[in-house]
Amino acid sequence: MSIKSGYFKQHLHIDLTKGTAERRTTADAFIEKYIGGRGFGAKLVWDNLKKHDFKIDPLGPENLLVVAPGPLTGVYLPSSGKNSFVAISPATGLYGDSSMGGGFGVELRQTGTDILSVTGKAPELSVLFIDNGETTILPMPELKGKSCLEAEGMIKERLGTHAVHVATIGIGGENMVRFACVNTDWSRNAGRAGMGAIMGAKNLKAIVVRGHMDLPVYDVAGLMAEAEQAFKYMEEHKYFKLWQQEGLMNVIDYANEKGILPTYNFKDSVFARHDQINGTTMVNRYKIGDSACFSCPMCCGNICLVKSGKYTGTVVEGPEYETCAMLGPNLGIDNFAAILSATRLCDELGIDTISTGSIVGATIEGYEKGILSLSDLDGREIAWGDEDAILGLIQKIAHRQGIGDILADGSHRIIENWPEMDKIILQVKGLEQSA
Ligand code: SF4
Repeated sequence: MSIKSGYFKQHLHIDLTKGTAERRTTADAFIEKYIGGRGFGAKLVWDNLKKHDFKIDPLGPENLLVVAPGPLTGVYLPSSGKNSFVAISPATGLYGDSSMGGGFGVELRQTGTDILSVTGKAPELSVLFIDNGETTILPMPELKGKSCLEAEGMIKERLGTHAVHVATIGIGGENMVRFACVNTDWSRNAGRAGMGAIMGAKNLKAIVVRGHMDLPVYDVAGLMAEAEQAFKYMEEHKYFKLWQQEGLMNVIDYANEKGILPTYNFKDSVFARHDQINGTTMVNRYKIGDSACFSCPMCCGNICLVKSGKYTGTVVEGPEYETCAMLGPNLGIDNFAAILSATRLCDELGIDTISTGSIVGATIEGYEKGILSLSDLDGREIAWGDEDAILGLIQKIAHRQGIGDILADGSHRIIENWPEMDKIILQVKGLEQSA
């Protein structure tokens, strides 16, 4: 079958070791079979695995990182801003993918690219800039140690424009924390499976895209009709307003009521003080605005500001249910301002809030049960709800300081180091359990 539209049929392949960029034509049969996004990614990662005789170090230059939107990314449909990061995961050593919202994938498509794949390792910390049809690898060692937001600002200054989308890593990615994420649009992350660590291992601080091309759509009128229907359905849905107001934060009460809210490292499933950290509390006391991914009327992003207390001035987008549950009840924290502070810290450092909450929770329980000693914790006690110790431990993980160096390698290394932790870390093949 000949694919008439919906794709540019362009695969941009970057070799950071050689410093080369090559545009390849994507075959119709490949498109028809694998469609886009993680489908494209899974096939390319599988082929690369075979090429290396199934021996790939996830943090080695040979690990292929695929970034792929889908054929509906960026067209006039609800929530069509999604984009997949796919590679062999440093958390599991197996296939991994992570979905990113925001607008990065849309603009990547507008450069005329259906698939971006990156192999090799740059000689120094660099930024990949895809500017419509042109691709440049810019050495930017000055970005070392910069948070995701700082790095994004510096890159935009260097390029002399704000009209780009940037997907960047923080110090967590640079330090190859095995659950480091890739951040875009302030707080949208490809959060899971350690995609940020892979970029760090490749000395790739950020991917920047600027695209002005029209997206190929076969039947514009048909697409518009479908889109109108979909938008209308959503707007008339009985939960639409609640979703706009609270986003996924409305799940906190539901999960608590059903007895599935991760609490104290999943030991409990109901959090007595859930009303202090739920969607209603967020809306009444902290929320100052909304944000959305491309073309999403649900705008689930909650921009929050802490107006009083020790975290005064903290501004962050989020958290959503997963982040709130894992950095809140799962750690015994009932102070929503502290959850906001931890969320912001993870976003700045570029580490996944789910794995971070899971590993910190297991550390607290490990200490409580005597599996970890005070000396293992570098002499600093930690307990449920101890906000300062928890925020400090998050910093140590991203910077790989003290015990943070072991925790940064995720569940497998923690269990290797302290076999009894196997009983209390919730993980599947090395990937920490989500909420
Ligand atoms: S704004 Fe929220 S609901 Fe909409 S696409 Fe993004 S993550 Fe999904």
